[in-house]
Amino acid sequence: MHDWSGKRVTVMGLGRFGGGLAVTRYLARRGATVLLTDLADEQALAGPLKQLKPLIDQGKVRLRLGTHEPVDFTAADTVVANPAVPKPWENRYLNAAREAGVPITTEIQLGIDYLDPSRIIAVTGSAGKSTTSAMTHAALVAASMPTILAGNIGTSILDRLDDLTEDTISVLEISSAMLHWLQGFAPAVAVVTNCTENHTDWHGSFDHYQASKRSILAHQPPGAAAILDETLADWSSQPGVQQTILTHSDRIERCTTPGAHNARNAVFAVAAATAVLNQCRITADQSTITQAVREFPGLPHRLSLCHEANGIRFYNDSKCTVPGATLLAISALSETIDPSRIHLIAGGYDKGSDLQPIADLASSLSGLYTIGVTGKHLADTASSNAAYCVDLDSAMRTIMQRTKPGDAILLSPGCASWDQFTNYEQRGDRFRDLAVALTEPAKC
Ligand code: ADP
Repeated sequence: MHDWSGKRVTVMGLGRFGGGLAVTRYLARRGATVLLTDLADEQALAGPLKQLKPLIDQGKVRLRLGTHEPVDFTAADTVVANPAVPKPWENRYLNAAREAGVPITTEIQLGIDYLDPSRIIAVTGSAGKSTTSAMTHAALVAASMPTILAGNIGTSILDRLDDLTEDTISVLEISSAMLHWLQGFAPAVAVVTNCTENHTDWHGSFDHYQASKRSILAHQPPGAAAILDETLADWSSQPGVQQTILTHSDRIERCTTPGAHNARNAVFAVAAATAVLNQCRITADQSTITQAVREFPGLPHRLSLCHEANGIRFYNDSKCTVPGATLLAISALSETIDPSRIHLIAGGYDKGSDLQPIADLASSLSGLYTIGVTGKHLADTASSNAAYCVDLDSAMRTIMQRTKPGDAILLSPGCASWDQFTNYEQRGDRFRDLAVALTEPAKC
């Protein structure tokens, strides 16, 4: 593969949550001298920096934080750009590297270079990528296949290199930004769950976003498979690629994860796992695959049942940061729970979204409990059944005085978390902790 020994590599973007950690470690351990640069300062990056301390102390990783310097981009042998950098084609530092003839790559490209494309399932889409990828992975595990789950879901391929064998099937969640950077990407199975307006700040336009998503199909060889949502039926595949269009009535019933959207994610997952096994000429029991997808418990913070006590169910949908996702969560739970038994917690950081659709839900629910910066306005615009509770702790305490067995408490904020939490994971974890604490039997 690549020989990094003695090479000067600039990694652009460590990220507050450590998105650049894996590639930095990978390069330094293979003999490169890494210059890690990020516009955020040392304090903001304290968490991920702690994990690099041994490599920094050994002089294998140098830091340029709080700023970027053009020379770090022009005098390097390679630049590794973090896919979070928006509109990279107009970024002045990346352009300086381009003008100086310095190759630019990404962590996902370096990882994919280690994989056998004929054993890659790549999943993209505006919503449902993580769930579909994880369900597909669960299906392959159930079929006793050696498999890894990596990419945008949070695990770097570069951290899984020791686990790869020639039989490994890699299930990769791939974002539109990653696709923009990938060159000649030719997965055996490409899945696109849907494509709606998203990430316009990164791409500059919906057309650019859509073109990036479509590129997942651009290099697939004959015999590969493309599995697309029916709204994308006009996305043409390469000659000889088997294209499967899933309609909105295709769903796998009786899934553990609630909602029609997850029943559809399950169909994508079964189709993807089956397609790769067919291509590898492996016969797998179809009912095993379907059952594994059905039993998939759901990913944390995405409408997952995180606690149950005294006949009350607690659903954590903290990843829901747009009003449409709150409506989706209510509609999903309403398939099995009467809406008048649902207590909804919503509100948070103000992204400027129209929250009226959430306010309009209040009258059909047991109650709407609002929190965060948008909480007051949200409660004020609801016609009835809404209480402004300021924060999550007080919302949970208020709700717990009103619940009875058979009720469901749902955190589906429809807003980002940054006004009161570091991220949606912290908000969801706090919800679960409160659920546990507030249902514990009283100690004498
Ligand atoms: P992604 O990785 O694309 O962000 P996730 O699987 O993490 O998607 O799901 C995030 C949220 O997107 C879910 O909580 C749900 O609100 C919504 N969602 C999931 N799957 C779908 C789908 N197939 N269609 C529409 N919305 C979906």
